[in-house]
Amino acid sequence: MTRPLAERVGRLGTESAFEVLRRARALEAEGRDVIHLEIGQPDAPTPGPVVEVAVEALRGGAHGYVPTLGLPELRAAVAADASARRGIEVDPADVVICPGGKPVMSFVFLALVEPGDEVLLPDPGFPIYRSMVEFCGATAVGVPLRAANGFRADPDEVASLVTERTKLLVLNSPNNPTGGVSTDDDLAALAALARDHDLWVLSDEIYSRLQFDAPFRSIVAEEAMAERTVLLDGHSKTYAMTGWRLGHAVAPAVLVPHLERLLVNTVSCTPPFTQLAGVEALTGDQSPTERMLATYRRRRDLVVDGLSGIDGITCHPPGGAFYAFPDITGTGLDDVTFADRLLADAGVATLAGSGFGPHGAGHLRLSLAASDADLTEALDRLAAFVAGLSAH
Ligand code: PLP
Repeated sequence: MTRPLAERVGRLGTESAFEVLRRARALEAEGRDVIHLEIGQPDAPTPGPVVEVAVEALRGGAHGYVPTLGLPELRAAVAADASARRGIEVDPADVVICPGGKPVMSFVFLALVEPGDEVLLPDPGFPIYRSMVEFCGATAVGVPLRAANGFRADPDEVASLVTERTKLLVLNSPNNPTGGVSTDDDLAALAALARDHDLWVLSDEIYSRLQFDAPFRSIVAEEAMAERTVLLDGHSKTYAMTGWRLGHAVAPAVLVPHLERLLVNTVSCTPPFTQLAGVEALTGDQSPTERMLATYRRRRDLVVDGLSGIDGITCHPPGGAFYAFPDITGTGLDDVTFADRLLADAGVATLAGSGFGPHGAGHLRLSLAASDADLTEALDRLAAFVAGLSAH
């Protein structure tokens, strides 16, 4: 075949986690022992009662197509939960159920941005934001997140990056990969900026239930923000349901029919047994999520302490999510070489920070969703690897 592919597919980026997982598995197939700190998924299982509801739903015949925007009972449960946790009144009609949180971001970019538009997004940040913005032909403008600033999106810096072309501001607090969390003052200032410049906001709150030190707050609760904010959340991280594919948007009413069209044109609907399990997750016992949070908090302390004891490495404690994002520049290696060699030489799979944006360079992302024993062993291997570097 000599006919070219569509130019836009060349603009799609990717997520390095899946590529590193593939390499780590290849090493394991050769008999190597690898500790997996690369992939961002809870190490706890989905809570048993949630699994039971799905099994019963399948036995009971929940096999067919269902409404594109989601089952009414799940939309109502999401609206009730979002209202209670964000201090706003969410109408179930504004809840859009999707097969994962990722489709929410893709559909929001497809619905809102086009060539000529600029989109402000966290750098380092979830790589799919940039990928999809560029796929849509718009320009991604990174908002630098720095350890010195607690990896927060600084409202003054965001303001300095706004132009008349800026259409959308992407926020992600707690942030993947840094664990950075916006303060209440940040949210108020960012909301004022969005109102003043008439910006849409995509607030990716997928880690909102996994915030360690302060209660979570959403920008959507700021004055007049519900009309311009799409809130993204889902079951993947909160209920250890990454493989189930269940996420949602709470969107301004004007956007809902367009998100529905995008869903009809792509996936038709989200599987009904997954959605029914999702209702149980939201309305049932919340203690598994609380236990996960306590576990990640404890591991955060373990890992930050361990990393801080290694020459050439510093680590700002994450305020949420389940990642540590240490600065490894003091070791003399760049992040890509460091991550590659750490996997090949020491059998520890991590992600290079530059995969999350230019400001991620010089950092590694380590998942805290691994057992204490694995994390302790990984820290020992890391320390020995770094000691080996200075010995040569
Ligand atoms: N947003 C962020 C910041 C994430 O880290 C992830 C997953 O890693 C997602 C969204 C997507 O989650 P889902 O598995 O629900 O598609």
